[in-house]
Amino acid sequence: MPEFRRPENEQEFHKNFEQIKPLMNQTEAYYESSRCLFCYDAPCIKACPTGIDIPLFIRQINSGNVKGSAKTIYSANNFGRACGNVCPTEVLCEGSCVYTKQNIKPIEIGRLQSFATSQAINEDTSFFPLAENNGKKVAVIGAGPAGISCACELRKMGFSVDIFEAKEYPSGLTLYGVAPYKITNQAVLEEMDYLQKQFGYKIHYKTAITERKDIENLHKKYDAVFIGIGLGSTSELGIPGEYLENSRGAVEFIQKLRINKHQVKVGKKVIVLGGGNTAMDAASEASRLGAEKVILCYRRSQKEMKAYWFEYDLAKSVGTSGVFNVVPLEIVGDKKVSGVKFAKSKVENGTVKIIPKSEFIEPCDMVIKATGQEKYHAFLKMIDNLKVDNKDRIVVNPETGQTNNPKFFAGGDSVNGGKEVVNAVAEGRNAAYGIQKYIFG
Ligand code: SF4
Repeated sequence: MPEFRRPENEQEFHKNFEQIKPLMNQTEAYYESSRCLFCYDAPCIKACPTGIDIPLFIRQINSGNVKGSAKTIYSANNFGRACGNVCPTEVLCEGSCVYTKQNIKPIEIGRLQSFATSQAINEDTSFFPLAENNGKKVAVIGAGPAGISCACELRKMGFSVDIFEAKEYPSGLTLYGVAPYKITNQAVLEEMDYLQKQFGYKIHYKTAITERKDIENLHKKYDAVFIGIGLGSTSELGIPGEYLENSRGAVEFIQKLRINKHQVKVGKKVIVLGGGNTAMDAASEASRLGAEKVILCYRRSQKEMKAYWFEYDLAKSVGTSGVFNVVPLEIVGDKKVSGVKFAKSKVENGTVKIIPKSEFIEPCDMVIKATGQEKYHAFLKMIDNLKVDNKDRIVVNPETGQTNNPKFFAGGDSVNGGKEVVNAVAEGRNAAYGIQKYIFG
């Protein structure tokens, strides 16, 4: 029996994808904030990539100053509400809360953060006056967390900002790449509207920058360009059968799910290939879409998975089972997927080795590949002399986000290779200060 019934409509979809960190009410927020010890030199602040003053914003909630709390959050992190929901708080702020040392449940920092910022969004509270127009223009490529964060900070400093976004909606990964049980589309887009209204940057949707002449135009027209393009599609496995019907990339699967919700169909038995957080999300999602059996297959041991432990626990809690030390050799089937041919493997000196004569076929009717994401090679080549490292990540000055082509700055996944929304927000914000320094000295 499947854990979840296949959702037939949007209501059933939302029931299956119920929020794992639901919004607190006032009483819950008051109670939870009263547990905080308001530590001096608080470890939770150090664990936050954007350095939010966590004890301060919790104290403000506790004293009834929810607006002040939201201001504290937004002055460090422009994606305050989204990050409250989607951050892996278990390994960041909450993971370092002093209570964990005493085996006591840490303060629910993420949910408190979402509580305070939601109120500011609902009341459309504007916190930051914009400086007078300084006469300088910045182009931002990509309306993801890095790009939007950079734009908000630049607007505060009086820059004009144009954002060029290939897709239909803003927020990048937050809308298109995060599992729907972490945040709803409505919550993401409300925060995006709130920010745009407050900061007044322009977003040009469905405007992909794909040709050298587009880059040359931006170079000519703008005083600086910020690159926040994220990562591309799922990387190929390079095995036969990869393009059979019902074999797809996890990134594309999740993206479709976020937009088309219950209209996305899954197989009865789904094999997910990979051991990272995206694999865990895809497995949980397949289960919540009504798959009868979901198996996560990884070429190394369970201990070596890159996924956070709590993400694997979450996938298991909705019926996913794990098979380890198996390497996919072929996706088998005639037009449609009918199984995956694996070989058993072992790890020797850090390298995965196939065990001879250990092949077997695991039948299934759908495969989801969560095998990493491509970089935008063609895009990166369009910018003169742009330095990338051996993994095709853009090389920047970590303090300012400036690339070796001085007019170009970058941040987010295209620089860090694929981290959390909060990392991209921090990098976008820092690059805004880098741009100001570059232009005004
Ligand atoms: Fe509060 Fe925990 Fe941070 Fe201390 S570490 S300030 S108790 S949230």
